Amino acid sequence: MYALRSQQISKRLYWAMSIIILCLLCICVPLMVSSIQSYTQTLRSSQELQALREVAVLAHKISRERGPANKLMSSAPEDSQEEHQVLNDFRNNVDAQMEHTAKVLNQLGFSDLSQQVNTQVRHSLDLGRAEVDAYVNLPMSQRTATRLDQAILKMFSAWDASREILKTIVSASDASSASLSPFITQILLLADLRDEAGRVASNIMAPVTFNEPISAANLGRLLQTQKQVDYLLGMIDTTQPAMAQTLEFKRLHARIQTEFIQKGMPVVSRLMQESIEKKPYFLTGVGLTDVMVDKFVTVVDLQTYMLQLTEQVAEQEMARTLRYLLWTCGLSVISLLVAFSTMIFARKRIIEPLIEARNTLLDLSHASERNTGYSATRLDDDHDSLFVAIEKLQRVMQQRDAFEFRLKNIAHSDSLTGLSNRFALEEYIRFLEKHPEQFAKICLMVIDIDHFKQVNDSYGHIVGDEVICAVADSLQYNVRTSDLVVRYGGDEFLILIEDIEKQNALNVGQKICDEIATMHIPLRDGQGLHVSVSIGIAVGADSWIELFEKADQALFSAKAKGRNTISW
Ligand code: GH3
Ligand code: MG
Repeated sequence: MYALRSQQISKRLYWAMSIIILCLLCICVPLMVSSIQSYTQTLRSSQELQALREVAVLAHKISRERGPANKLMSSAPEDSQEEHQVLNDFRNNVDAQMEHTAKVLNQLGFSDLSQQVNTQVRHSLDLGRAEVDAYVNLPMSQRTATRLDQAILKMFSAWDASREILKTIVSASDASSASLSPFITQILLLADLRDEAGRVASNIMAPVTFNEPISAANLGRLLQTQKQVDYLLGMIDTTQPAMAQTLEFKRLHARIQTEFIQKGMPVVSRLMQESIEKKPYFLTGVGLTDVMVDKFVTVVDLQTYMLQLTEQVAEQEMARTLRYLLWTCGLSVISLLVAFSTMIFARKRIIEPLIEARNTLLDLSHASERNTGYSATRLDDDHDSLFVAIEKLQRVMQQRDAFEFRLKNIAHSDSLTGLSNRFALEEYIRFLEKHPEQFAKICLMVIDIDHFKQVNDSYGHIVGDEVICAVADSLQYNVRTSDLVVRYGGDEFLILIEDIEKQNALNVGQKICDEIATMHIPLRDGQGLHVSVSIGIAVGADSWIELFEKADQALFSAKAKGRNTISW
């Protein structure tokens, strides 16, 4: 049996609830941590995306600066005034972008990359520009295809430096967001494609400008770049995320094919063919730049589209993780609140009433013990459990029942013979009157000892009492325990037998009469005594009065007949 002692009831409640709350915490805390992590990751991804966009724009502008630079370098000094202005404007534009990109990167928390823009990219670009300026400042006579090619290659390096930053952001984004990383890879591939596409023309710019055959080195670079373009286009096609397979993507992708591959590449191939056949080129260096520059726009358009799409995906992802975070936090808080309120409710509405009930039970049992004067139970309120309190009260009630039973027995018993007395008879009569149909088959015998006065007179009252007891024993012995034997008063007894036929009742009466007549009652002086009884029998009546009168009348008859006999 559990000992639910009052101080333990509360303790156990706290323990049980603490375990439940601990279990809830074990579920809620990792859930919340994971949802916070998912949310911060998407936030980080979104920042990386902004950084990527910034650097992609910068890389694109650096790449585009090669256009006016190439144009200026391939123009004659007398025509270069306007080209100079265009290049300067473009450089200013790139510088402003570089400053902006470095600032944004810093704000987004990519201070290393911001530093990289201000140092490495700036340095490479300055080197490239210095080379371009050095070439432009050369008099026409000192300009050679090799010097021009050198300046072009230096400008490639500036883009390579910005590409390093793009690569760093892409690597970081791979780790932080699985859903965005394919989009981001595409953006890097598109940046590569845009630059490689630009390099196609730049690779042969020098020989075309000087109308010289394309050298093996330039040809090698050109073929490599063309291959790279094909490879990148293929990669963009195969690594395209399922979400990006839209009609717009297909349209923009197709435009790269038609504009750049089908229109731009044949121009370069034709120049290559003319170089092999040693024919004059159909385009000048400036003309080549003019023809090719529009063709890259298609790649930039696709890149811009991919950036927008990626931002949409990032926003959706952020909304999803925010929803998840709010749900997780909300559910966790609700479940913890429910657990706490259950604990408070259980304490107020279950435990405290239980403790109160226990105290009341203990008070009741103590009060009963005081009233009955019986205190066999241990009185230890502080340590008694609810069950002990119930047990105690149960015991007290049993004791009280037993006590009442004893009192009732004392009140209902004849002190001399131990037979039922008139109180018991009255109770039995009250019971019968509630079920009057019982009177129809009930038998009442009225038994009176014959000449009892003489016994008293001859042998004394003590012997008289012994005779009364002997007769009582005999009566009790001759009926069933369920039959009621009453000492009605003096030497007069009643026997009540339920549900009996008249003949059987007469047989029982006769048997009692005969047995008492032959009974030998020993006396102290060694002699014996014989007594007889007269019995009046009545079976069936409408009421107790009628039954009693019939039996009493019959006794009167039995006495009149000479005693030691039965009558009915
Ligand atoms: P009958 O045959 O007509 O019944 O004659 P009886 O002498 O028995 O007359 P009755 O029944 O009227 O007398 C009963 C006597 O029983 C009267 C009384 O002194 C005596 N008696 C009553 N109660 C007790 C008792 O408790 N003990 C003793 N020893 N005698 C009692
Ligand atoms: Mg008598």
